[in-house]
Amino acid sequence: MKPISYGKQFISDEDIEQVVQVLKSDFLTQGPKVKEFENDFSDYVDSEYAIAISNGTAALHLCMLALGLKDGDKVITTPLTFAASANCVRYCNAEIDFVDIDAETYLMDLDKLEAKLSKVPIGTYKGIIAVAFAGYPDNMERLRAIADKYKLWLVEDACHAPGGYFVDSKGKVQKVGNGRYADLQVFSFHPVKHIATGEGGMITTNNKNLFTKVSQLRTHGITKDPKLLHENHGGWYYEMQELGYNCRLSDIQAALGVSQLKRAKEGVERRNEIANIYSAAFANENIITPKVNDEYFHAYHLYVIQVEDRKGLYNHLRENNIFSQVLYYPVHLMPYYKELGWNNGDLPVVEAYYGKCLALPMFPTLTNKEQAYIISKVKEFVK
Ligand SMILES: *Cc1c(COP(=O)(O)O)cnc(C)c1O
Repeated sequence: MKPISYGKQFISDEDIEQVVQVLKSDFLTQGPKVKEFENDFSDYVDSEYAIAISNGTAALHLCMLALGLKDGDKVITTPLTFAASANCVRYCNAEIDFVDIDAETYLMDLDKLEAKLSKVPIGTYKGIIAVAFAGYPDNMERLRAIADKYKLWLVEDACHAPGGYFVDSKGKVQKVGNGRYADLQVFSFHPVKHIATGEGGMITTNNKNLFTKVSQLRTHGITKDPKLLHENHGGWYYEMQELGYNCRLSDIQAALGVSQLKRAKEGVERRNEIANIYSAAFANENIITPKVNDEYFHAYHLYVIQVEDRKGLYNHLRENNIFSQVLYYPVHLMPYYKELGWNNGDLPVVEAYYGKCLALPMFPTLTNKEQAYIISKVKEFVK
């Protein structure tokens, strides 16, 4: 068996052709492909606006800037995520606080979140960054209610979850990224994610002011929009109105994104098929498999199991050319965050999860034969 990694991009001949066409065109960046990708992406997730960004981390950073986060402000997130979900707060010199995870969904425990918020005066925190870990959609309806009650903004780091959705209390499907509840939602197109553009990211929102703000921050704080200019000297004239950055996606990357997005729905369905096969195969073993509530459609960026001897299983799979991964070492235990005062034992549920978790190979082009091989090697070890 050839080595099998835990995640892998799929680049088709059509993807390559689309990129080559951009290379032969007049625009390598800021041309028509970025706009097309943004339009297609907002259609895919049902949002009003979508803004393509150079990567998911920069997208999170721009969200924090657009929301006016500053020195001394406090924001809450989950410890079970890629460090960027918390780092974006630190980029603005603001403070991060973590709420432990729910043992079943692995998402932020919303009862603990409410308990924390109810004990402090309104205004102590500025916002919440929810994370759709592994592709399990956040309960955005409840999160919005909590955010409103405590006067917080709400951002969802949805890097794991494009294509996921939940059914709200009125029975309506709410797609991840649709901007219905969150102020801003963030996606990544790193090759290991659902849609690959090399590096790349997207912000979605239904809020026009935030859309304008983020768009401006993406290109140096510069605008050419006649309605926003303070003065207007002619066709060439633009203004830099605030301190922004260069966080643009190129047309080369956007062309790949447009082409990849055409297969996104198929991809997330295939991921669910793979997940169902894993879960059925492990049902009677000493393996904890993901439990997904009926109201949720999981996007399965990751398929995570929990086993007693995680290290043993990891090594056993590795010896058999299967490269599983441990996701994540909780963010609050990273040396950088420990220096800010966090410590072992602070968040017991996520720390227990870390001791047992293992993400098995999960990507749409995983073959049935490869999956059967992985399952047999897992079962061989966990008896
Ligand atoms: C991948 C990822 C990011 C960062 O995205 P990049 O495009 O790699 O910068 C942020 N948050 C989560 C949860 C991610 O998985």
